[in-house]
Amino acid sequence: MKVKILLSNTKFQKKDEEFINKFIKFLQTQYPLEKNVIIKFLGDREGKMSTGSRTDKSVIKVLAKDRLNRDIMRTLAHEWVHEHQRTILKREHGPNIGGRNEDEANAFAGRLVKMFEKKYPELESLMYESKTFNSKINLLTEKIFENEKNESKKSLLNEMKKIGIENLPYSYSSLSRFIDSKTMNVHYNKHYKGYVDKLNKALKDKDGEMTLDQIIKSINKFDEKVRNNAGGAFNHALFWKMLSPKKQLPSGEILEKIKKDFGNIKKMKDEFNEAAKDRFGSGWAWLYLSKNGDLKIMSTPNQDNPLMNVVKNGGFPLLGLDVWEHAYYLKYQNKRDEYIKNFWDVVNWEFVNELYLSKTQKK
Ligand code: MN
Repeated sequence: MKVKILLSNTKFQKKDEEFINKFIKFLQTQYPLEKNVIIKFLGDREGKMSTGSRTDKSVIKVLAKDRLNRDIMRTLAHEWVHEHQRTILKREHGPNIGGRNEDEANAFAGRLVKMFEKKYPELESLMYESKTFNSKINLLTEKIFENEKNESKKSLLNEMKKIGIENLPYSYSSLSRFIDSKTMNVHYNKHYKGYVDKLNKALKDKDGEMTLDQIIKSINKFDEKVRNNAGGAFNHALFWKMLSPKKQLPSGEILEKIKKDFGNIKKMKDEFNEAAKDRFGSGWAWLYLSKNGDLKIMSTPNQDNPLMNVVKNGGFPLLGLDVWEHAYYLKYQNKRDEYIKNFWDVVNWEFVNELYLSKTQKK
């Protein structure tokens, strides 16, 4: 039986860690578990989570920020008892307030902490020292059970990093020659933030520490839910930056490259416009840098993009246009053509050029 411990936004002292190791061994003598357990110490309160919870995959989550204290020990004991009830006693009902499982967990958690304190009287002083120590997870996991000494670092779990929200770099009304402020507001606050939110929920119980770019580049490893929402989060975060309230003309290296690969700007735009118009249903049109270094145009369905490793002949997106109806319907209804035409008035060519340079200049 293995116990893995993860610290996320939690600062324990080394002594705290030793103590938790001892405490877990103690819990195992009182309420043995047979299946592997993961214990995550999660730092500050997030959303609706109470001080502790667990999943049916034997993941125990405990809020613990700076120092070890009795509440943290009690919460851990409480969840451990529930895990014992579920996996060893095979009790069907969950930990409902007033129910047998909950009453037992409450009563036993307090008693377990007391018994433990009696056994290790130095706990008292430990809990009130104030120095903090940035702990590494391997310090903990290597010490947990005698038979766990050979636990390798490779098998340690990391909490999947939360994907953040990009700020909108202008006001909702500042692109009015392209899109109205109401659409912009709903697009940013409801659709885009919705993708990020659903993505984080979908990643919650996944292992690994990946950035949004890395997820997109290895999207074949994830399910459809992650594909749609990671795509939505990534595409929109780029899209906001690809637009500018200030009218700009293409210039610099990207202009030269467009002329070289398409002949002139108009030819590139024509091809892009066709891709945007021809995209049946929801999706995106892209100008992108292909893997062999040429500029290319493509359109993708749903929230896919050229950077996803499931997209054929892909590459790095430089300019994208959202052709979902949520992006234009209030202002344009069925006139997607007009929406596409006005898009060229708000392209942030400076940003497109920066993206292009970031992918082509040698570091
Ligand atoms: Mn959109």
